[in-house]
Amino acid sequence: MSWLDNIRTCEPYTPGEQPNQADMVKLNTNENPYPPSDLVESCLKEMDPSALRLYPDPKASALVHALAVRYGLKDSQVFVGVGSDDVLAMAFLTFFNSSKPLLFPDITYSFYDVWAELFRIPYETIPLDEAFHIRPEDYKRENGGIVFPNPNAPTGALLPLEAVEEIVSANPDSVVICDEAYVDFGGESALGLIAKYDNLLVVQTFSKSRNTAGLRIGYAMGSDKLIEALNNVKYSFNSYTMSRPAIELGCACLADEAYFRECCAKIMATREKAEKSLKDLGFVFESSASNFIFATHPDKAAKEIFDALRERHIYVRWFDKDRIRNYLRITIGTEEEMARLFAALAGILGRA
Ligand code: PMP
Repeated sequence: MSWLDNIRTCEPYTPGEQPNQADMVKLNTNENPYPPSDLVESCLKEMDPSALRLYPDPKASALVHALAVRYGLKDSQVFVGVGSDDVLAMAFLTFFNSSKPLLFPDITYSFYDVWAELFRIPYETIPLDEAFHIRPEDYKRENGGIVFPNPNAPTGALLPLEAVEEIVSANPDSVVICDEAYVDFGGESALGLIAKYDNLLVVQTFSKSRNTAGLRIGYAMGSDKLIEALNNVKYSFNSYTMSRPAIELGCACLADEAYFRECCAKIMATREKAEKSLKDLGFVFESSASNFIFATHPDKAAKEIFDALRERHIYVRWFDKDRIRNYLRITIGTEEEMARLFAALAGILGRA
């Protein structure tokens, strides 16, 4: 027996690459192509560096309160963390302790199985249907918890609110997590259901629709009981998850509702145009309710297109995974970035 036998082995999640080239078009990790609001910029400029000597507020009360006001909740119904990855990891640790399997789709956010393995949570993946949609009836079976993104990732498909409610109401003995990382790009949030279902946790993030992936802010909303349980685990793990700058800048970001709406609207308009351009180039895809499109091409392998784009410093995401190996996930960028993408694709597909 050696210490090597006692190491926790895990296969880590692979984040999208973060290249840094001056001329690149980065459409691979679903960031917002627009800068944060001016309120964030002024907050950053006015920040007092000497305050960094002190620990931050462990409750991140200012940010929790700002979110509660924004979403019409009590402070006791909001939990914040270091990106929604941190919030989701805490939620897995807090809520999925049954010997029955946690359920999530086979094609979904590829961090779910990583956390399940890390925390030794038994799980079963439920195949999406042929068109990559979640079938609510598949989630009416014994389970120790349920998690799914809505819209789903990397497919972009939206599950209607009635279908979300069907899953939640069929599972009163499990916690159901609805991961709404992309909901602001045309989806309908399940937030309205938390008053009715105390087992529903809705998780959102500042990384996509709030233009601040670099700040690392995510949050969960749910019943007092769920949030209290999350806080108990968080305080047993790390009291000071949110840094002082993140708390302050997060509040500033949240204060600019008009800018948030404007950026979401621009991205949705660009998505509509992009769908048309992709169709013209022969791509096939389902409609997306997120800030990316998940597309395949009948004439050229996705990996070949991915590599050819990469050579031109245009980055999209390709997953080496069954069922989706021939798909590309393309983040919606600015109009200019999309124009460069489509010019490159026309060349690669011989349609220039
Ligand atoms: N959920 C889904 C479905 C995602 O795609 C992502 C982004 N990788 C996240 C959660 C985590 O995002 P963040 O930690 O930046 O909030």
